[in-house]
Amino acid sequence: MFEIVIGLEVHVQLNTKTKLFCSCPTSFNHKQNTNTCPTCLALPGALPVLNKEVLHKSVMLGTAIDATINRTSFFDRKSYFYPDSPSAYQITQLYTPVVEHGKLQIDFEDGSHKIIRINRAHIEADAGKNIHEGDISKVDLNRAGTPLLEIVSEPDMRSSEEVILYLKKLHSIIRYLDIGDANMQEGSFRVDVNVSIRPKGDEKLYTRVEIKNINSFKFIEKAIELEVARQIEAWEDGVYESEICQETRLFDQTKQETRSMRGKEEAADYRYFPEPDLLKAVVTDEMISVYSKIPELPDEKKSRFVQEYGMNEYNASVITSSVEMAHFFEAMMQEGISAKNATTWLTVELQGRLKGEVNITNSHVDAKKLGHLVKRIEDGTISGKAAKEVLDRLMEENLDVDGVIDALGLKQVSDTGALETICDAIIAANGDKVAEYKGGKDKLFGFFVGQVMKESKGSANPQAVNDILKVKLG
Ligand code: ADP
Ligand code: MG
Ligand code: ZN
Repeated sequence: MFEIVIGLEVHVQLNTKTKLFCSCPTSFNHKQNTNTCPTCLALPGALPVLNKEVLHKSVMLGTAIDATINRTSFFDRKSYFYPDSPSAYQITQLYTPVVEHGKLQIDFEDGSHKIIRINRAHIEADAGKNIHEGDISKVDLNRAGTPLLEIVSEPDMRSSEEVILYLKKLHSIIRYLDIGDANMQEGSFRVDVNVSIRPKGDEKLYTRVEIKNINSFKFIEKAIELEVARQIEAWEDGVYESEICQETRLFDQTKQETRSMRGKEEAADYRYFPEPDLLKAVVTDEMISVYSKIPELPDEKKSRFVQEYGMNEYNASVITSSVEMAHFFEAMMQEGISAKNATTWLTVELQGRLKGEVNITNSHVDAKKLGHLVKRIEDGTISGKAAKEVLDRLMEENLDVDGVIDALGLKQVSDTGALETICDAIIAANGDKVAEYKGGKDKLFGFFVGQVMKESKGSANPQAVNDILKVKLG
C-alpha cells in the first residue's frame, strides 16, 4: 500500500498599483510593452527600489497564516535565460524570506480538521509573457516585474482532496485580505504541485515530481491522479529508480497525461547569490501595527455566523467561502430579514439565476435589493412564488423592488376587510360544504382556502385567509 505525499507552491500576484521595483502600473490589458521602464526592461544602469506596499501585503498574509514575519529579509538573484526575462535573472528571496513557518487549517466534510504547515512565503518578481503566433514569437514585458508572493507548503498533503481544500482555503484568505485577485484562469493564482509516493508507514521522502501551472481545480485533481498512477506503476514494475526522477512535468489536458518538460534544476544551476542592487527589506514596527490588523478571516466569520445568526455549519461555510458572498449576505441582513431566507435567496435563487456567469458583485440585483425582496415576502406583501417572478424581472433590468411588485400586480391582499368579503361570499355560496365541515370533515378546510385564493386570482395572502376562515368556520 502506498501513501501519496504532496507539497504545493502557489504564486500569488499581489494587487499593488505599481510593480515590485519600479513605478510602472501593474494594470493589464494595456498595449504590449507600454507598462515598462528602464528598470523592468533591465536596461544597464537602472536600479530597483522596493515597493513598500508589497511588504504591507506580506505582513497581512503572514499574520493570516500565523507565521513568523522576518523584520529583515533579503533579496537574491536566480539566474536563468529565457526571452521573457530581459535581465536573465529573477529577483527572489531564497535565504531569508519575508514570511516563514506558517500554518493553514483545512476542514473536512465530516467536521474534522488538519493543519498544513507552510514553509515560507517569499517575494519575487514575475516575468513577462511570450506570445506565439504561427512562426513568430513575441515578447510582452508589461507583466515583467509584477510582484508575486510564492507560498510554499511543507509536503503535508496526502490526497487530492486535501490539496483542493488547502488551495480553496488559501484562495479565500487572499480574497478576504484583498491582497490579490487570485484568479486561476487569468494566472494571478498559479499552482505547482509536487508529488511523490512512498510505502505506507515509511517516514522518508521519495523522489518528487513537480507539475507546473495547472489552471483549474479539476485539472489539479486529474494531474495528481495520473502522476500517482504513473509512479505506482513504475514501483510495481520494479522500474521506479530508473523511471521516476526529480523533474518538472507538464499536464496535458487534451491528452490527459503528464509529460516531462525539463529535468529539475538544482539550486546550484541557478547560481543564486545575494542581490547587490537592493537594500535589505525592513518591516518596521509601524508596518506591523498597521498591517497585522487584518480583517475577519473565513474561519472566524463562519463561527460568528453560526453564533450570531443561528446558521448551520454547512450554510455558514458555503456563505463564508467567498468574501463577496459573505459581504453580500451581511448587507442583506441589514434589511432585518431571517438568516435562513437570506441564505436561500442568495445561494439558491440569485446564484441559480447567475449560473456562475456573472459575479454577484456586478449583478443588477445587489444585496440591498435582494434583502428588500425577501423583506417583502416576510412582511406578507408578496408570496414566495411571486418573489421569484419579481427576481426574474430584476435580473433583466436595473429596477426597484417595490416598483416591479406594483408593475406586475403581484401585491398580496392582506387587507382583512377585503379578504373577509371574499370569505363571506365563498361561505355563503357553499352552504352544503360548510355543514359537512362543521360535521367533522376537517379536510374541507383546504377547499375553502383554495376557493378564496381562486376568487382573489391568487393575490390573497394565504396566511391571512387561513386566519379569517378559522374564525368564520368556527
Ligand atoms: P524548489 O524550489 O526547488 O521547487 P522546495 O524545497 O522549495 O524546492 O520545495 C518545493 C515543494 O516541494 C515544497 O512545497 C515541498 O513541500 C515539496 N516537496 C519536497 N519534497 C517533496 C516530496 N518528496 N514529495 C512531495 N512534495 C515534496
Ligand atoms: Mg519549485
Ligand atoms: Zn518599470
